[in-house]
Amino acid sequence: MSLIVHKYGGTSMGSVERIRNVAKRVAKWQRAGHQMIVVPSAMSGETNRLLGLAKEITDRPNPRELDQIAATGEQVSVGLLALALQAEGLDAISFCGWQVPIKTDAAHTKARIESIDRTAVQAHLDAGRVVVITGFQGVSPEGAVATLGRGGSDTSAVAIAAAFDAAECLIYTDVDGVYTTDPRVVADARRLSRITFEEMLEMASLGSKVLQIRSVEFAGKYKVKTRVLSSLTDPLMDLNDEAQSGTLITYEEDPSMEQAVISGIAFNRDEAKITIAGVPDKPGVAYKILGPVAAANVDVDVIIQNASHDGTTDFSFTVHRNELAKALEVIQTKVQPEIHAREITSDNQIAKVSVVGIGMKSHVGVASQMFQTLADEGINIQMISTSEIKISVVIADKYMELAVRALHKAFGLES
Ligand code: ASP
Ligand code: MG
Repeated sequence: MSLIVHKYGGTSMGSVERIRNVAKRVAKWQRAGHQMIVVPSAMSGETNRLLGLAKEITDRPNPRELDQIAATGEQVSVGLLALALQAEGLDAISFCGWQVPIKTDAAHTKARIESIDRTAVQAHLDAGRVVVITGFQGVSPEGAVATLGRGGSDTSAVAIAAAFDAAECLIYTDVDGVYTTDPRVVADARRLSRITFEEMLEMASLGSKVLQIRSVEFAGKYKVKTRVLSSLTDPLMDLNDEAQSGTLITYEEDPSMEQAVISGIAFNRDEAKITIAGVPDKPGVAYKILGPVAAANVDVDVIIQNASHDGTTDFSFTVHRNELAKALEVIQTKVQPEIHAREITSDNQIAKVSVVGIGMKSHVGVASQMFQTLADEGINIQMISTSEIKISVVIADKYMELAVRALHKAFGLES
């Protein structure tokens, strides 16, 4: 008998009928002899609806109150699910984050979990109850309800699994696992039966939205055995079958496994590029540009600096599209008076496409194959960045889907 955490996303909780299915699935696991903690999200669309209400009142809502509002979606979910479990004949009880308590820091709307108290929940588990705990929320040091950011229920589930030393954390969602790329872009994208935690972290940070990135960091740090799988299958299916489906996030590279060099292709259109042309090429310039940007709390992603020409150079970097205006303002008001660049331009019609694979650590030629594939399609590369297991390029966003399809094929990822 082991302790298992199930997490159900908004789609899985989307209607009373679906909640009944969740209860059937949980009941099956409980009857197979497991102790069960279930962490549901709000019903699909609910968090958006709640945040929309707040926005109707003000477009600068106070973050504490925003959390107070947004967290109610999960409170409804746990209550409904506990009732559905009871209707299945199980003993079940629901908790909000503050009742556990799940303690967070005070960063409303993006709080981090600091500790989880096992005492109360453990007593209920030991008494044979299924414990249903809200995703997405905890309680701040001031005693206010705090949320973990959009998609935060994944992080709640993994953190709870870590705190309770769960044997496995099963993330049930509306897709049946992690794919080589988004199947909406590449029809023959393939489900991966395993992906390493490092690869998953890259895929998530590059815009594959299967899991909230913090949940992957948590899973890696605490080595929580985490699996992504579909809740839209038969809830009464054979448990062993179920355990084999989905995608398991692993922590070691399995040397016995024939490892593909590339595991997946990620992409996003979330970034914009700023180019500062004709800046003096001398020590301290990168700092003069990016220091004020960082001080304004704007995240910078890809950075390139060109070779110097006549004592000046061009400097480009990307920021999140939503932060482009803020970054440009900082550049104009704080940076330009110091550096006297010839020209400052920006482009938000860009996309970032990345190939990810742990196999890159031991194979050469991945970059050249990537660049050749893009060249064959006539796609110009504007920026390049690499890590040990990833190569990203910035291209014009109108070529993004073409690039993803061509790379998926070139690296033999199709099913
Ligand atoms: N309900 C929250 C959201 O929509 C948290 C989650 O679903 O993970 O972002
Ligand atoms: Mg989600």
